[in-house]
Amino acid sequence: MPPSARALLRWYDQHHRNLPWRAPIGQTADPYHVWLSEIMLQQTTVKTVVPYYYHFLERFPTLTTLAHADKDLVLATWAGLGYYSRARNLHTCAQVVAQRGGFPHDIPNLKTLPGIGPYTAAAIAAIAFSVPVVPVDGNVERITARIFNINTPLPNARPLLAKLATTLNTDHEAQTRPHDFAQALFDLGALICSPRNPACGLCPWQQNCAAYAAGTAAILPKKLPKIVRPQRYGVHFLVIDKAGSVLLRRRPENGLLASMIELPGTEWHSTPWNENEILKISPVQTKWQRAGIVHHVFTHFSLELVVYVGRVTRFSNQEVAKGFLLPFSQILSQKREVAIPSVMKKCLTLGLKTFT
Ligand code: SF4
Repeated sequence: MPPSARALLRWYDQHHRNLPWRAPIGQTADPYHVWLSEIMLQQTTVKTVVPYYYHFLERFPTLTTLAHADKDLVLATWAGLGYYSRARNLHTCAQVVAQRGGFPHDIPNLKTLPGIGPYTAAAIAAIAFSVPVVPVDGNVERITARIFNINTPLPNARPLLAKLATTLNTDHEAQTRPHDFAQALFDLGALICSPRNPACGLCPWQQNCAAYAAGTAAILPKKLPKIVRPQRYGVHFLVIDKAGSVLLRRRPENGLLASMIELPGTEWHSTPWNENEILKISPVQTKWQRAGIVHHVFTHFSLELVVYVGRVTRFSNQEVAKGFLLPFSQILSQKREVAIPSVMKKCLTLGLKTFT
């Protein structure tokens, strides 16, 4: 028998999380807020997202202000959240939605928008427009695997879990409160049915949970072993002039970290660079000091960057033509006027320590 939506909603009414993008219990939320939060929460924790969400709304309070904003400012405001294609899609999507006069209310049309996949479409439809659907994210997959005691490992179990999840909201109360039901599932996954130590003793669905009965809750969902990420290597140069300006450049418009700002450096190869050779083709001729190594993990590879620092009295026109100059004080400013990705912030922070 599927677990009771009434029991879950009763628990949710008392124990829900107060998150800035949510509406009060029983009300549907602003679709702009729901959409923005769902895009930010992809691959990112709630704790990380909350300050970015406030900052983003302060700068772009409405969908229209976001649609009309400069792309560089959108990327700069996003900088630090990672997965920057999300920010580019967010901007394009805002323009499409503003053009059509608002978000569509149904899943098929939501899925046609840039950056909105099946899960995000379902989440917006349920939370903002009360469509009775169960959005299946990692939390809901985990709960479903446990409720039905599914031992097939992820990702192979995904289609089965998605099918079983559709049976969770079939009773009347879930159908009349689809927005609360979807968020109740998210909260159950975040607060009670957590990945490592599910608090089954506090769970409103304990009586209907097959994994609890079988004693397998803590080991579900099973996962296939992770593939080891390939390693890549690069070298970057932090050079500063007497006036306190740093030489930077913009990355190409396509590919990883497209259009974002970086320190001049090498490509990222699968083998370490010969640093003596690299110093000969550095962006300026100066005495270089090795500041250290920065490690960063992207979805598809791990990166190791060697950072060198150097000083010049002033940059020549030829050197500046390789990028552009920016005062150091602006680069790591909390106001995030410049779209510097996290990996480059790490390089800058390391380089700065060497200078001081
Ligand atoms: S009883 Fe335990 S495993 Fe089952 S849904 Fe609740 S918290 Fe998760």
